[in-house]
Amino acid sequence: MAGLPYIVGNWKMNGTRAMLNEVRAIDRAAARFPKVQVAVAPPATLIYRTRDAAEIIGVGGQDCHPLENGAFTGDISAPMLKDAGADFTIVGHSERRSIHGESDADVKAKAEAAFAAGLAVILCVGETEAERDAGNAETVVSGQLDGSCPLAEGAVEKLSVAYEPVWAIGTGRVPSTDDVKAMHAAIRAKLVAIYGEAGAGVRILYGGSVKADNAAELLSVPEVGGALVGGASLTAESFLGIVGAA
Ligand code: PGA
Repeated sequence: MAGLPYIVGNWKMNGTRAMLNEVRAIDRAAARFPKVQVAVAPPATLIYRTRDAAEIIGVGGQDCHPLENGAFTGDISAPMLKDAGADFTIVGHSERRSIHGESDADVKAKAEAAFAAGLAVILCVGETEAERDAGNAETVVSGQLDGSCPLAEGAVEKLSVAYEPVWAIGTGRVPSTDDVKAMHAAIRAKLVAIYGEAGAGVRILYGGSVKADNAAELLSVPEVGGALVGGASLTAESFLGIVGAA
């Protein structure tokens, strides 16, 4: 798997301009970790200012609409994210899938719109606790990848996948390293099945309760190419603990 470890902060619906101090601190510190690729996905209201406040780190959106513009009150399109200074966007986060009822087909359309707008994509997949308990975790994730991976030509080059077990998000619970290893291997096999050789180059991140004290262990698992971090990305101090562990 190619590339530097990729550590991405997902701020979700958190952050006002006061958070730009955290951005500056993260950006300054990122210069000390040239072997780690660091990015944050602030709320859309802060993308422009975050891009302005940061020199080194990547800046992304958390979601995008599948169409370029139109009568969709409250939505934000991929070209708008790009225009505001985003380099990438997250799509298919489990909070979008569950709270906003997004299907795999919706997520795929969003990923393709992001790619068309020139954004890289972090595509999230992951099983619920009931699905894991029923022994269906790999089947569920494999189905999500089949349904939501962007197939536009060249999209694979700008794709990362984030494996985020729903039951590990914001709960302080993480899967065993054996379970992470098995799932990341299954995701790799699926990506190769979908994309052929190019699927071997897609970065696979782990997300769900990543903290400074478990990051090194999770990031040492084969096929874990980085982390998507929620709660622990909201202060420079806790986020940089994870960047340092990478
Ligand atoms: P968490 O969230 O780190 O707060 O568990 C991760 C995510 O939802 O991306």
